[in-house]
Amino acid sequence: MLAGKPRLSCLWLLWVFIIGIAGPAQATNAVLISAFATSTEQSAANNSPLLLVPPSSRHATADQYRLHGLSAFSHTQQQLLREWIALGVKATRSGLGIYPTPLELFVYPRKSNQPVPWAHTRRDEPESIHFYVDTRYSLKDFQHDWTMYHEMAHLALPYLGEQYAWFSEGFASFMQYQLMATVDVLGMPLEVAYNSKISPHLRWFQADINAAAIATNLMEKRQYPAAYWGSAWYFYLAEQQLHNKHHTTLMAVIKRYQQQNRATDDSMQDLMRSLDKLVDDKLFSQLLLQFEQHRARDVYPKTWPPAPEHMSQ
Ligand SMILES: [Zn+2]
Repeated sequence: MLAGKPRLSCLWLLWVFIIGIAGPAQATNAVLISAFATSTEQSAANNSPLLLVPPSSRHATADQYRLHGLSAFSHTQQQLLREWIALGVKATRSGLGIYPTPLELFVYPRKSNQPVPWAHTRRDEPESIHFYVDTRYSLKDFQHDWTMYHEMAHLALPYLGEQYAWFSEGFASFMQYQLMATVDVLGMPLEVAYNSKISPHLRWFQADINAAAIATNLMEKRQYPAAYWGSAWYFYLAEQQLHNKHHTTLMAVIKRYQQQNRATDDSMQDLMRSLDKLVDDKLFSQLLLQFEQHRARDVYPKTWPPAPEHMSQ
């Protein structure tokens, strides 16, 4: 059921979509309605046997998910979409673990200038992901597009409310590249990818107010890349601390989180308590405190990586 609170994420993709529909090719409402009305389909990653998920099933196993809306596409297009989604599920399951419930995935035709011009997650019951796709693009184009990995990563955490939209988007942005690296479609080292996305936005965070307020403000001003990648800094720092103090990774922690807490957590307080407990350290909540109460300029570097002394002279 939809409650009063907003439950869509990725509004910047919505913005891309709004721009996209101004283009010459548009899907009609009739097409969208027929896509909504199609029967449920199930598939499995890497051509493994079809796994049936009874509608009443509340527990997912590896590679289980439901893909809806395929009948709006030709047979060849369906094959492309199945293979694309299968890779995303494989990346998500292997990187972030098996989510407590099967992924409910919807696809809709949408002509655009990119494979996936718009996507969003819905946090009503059951949670679902909705992809608008242009199947004129190749399978390789789809597999190298970050959108699917971003959306699937969102569902690793519970809905945290609008107040923590910055946190949710920072997490999905950070994780999209981790997942892409997992299935070898990132095309560059992770550090290079993060640096290229985060560095251009560091300047927004050289301020005396806290980072959470800055990121929220950037989202309100529709400066989505700055807000998302600026917020991803939280998770970059968390990853560093987990590595240095606990010899583990954020993905490994989130994987355990799926098994132990994801199904019952319902707030940021729950999430912080669970993550801290998983590593037996107040690492996550203390980092959140820095982002909510410290001056952003004390949390973010001016440049990244810092320019060596001899170069700055
Ligand atoms: Zn998002």
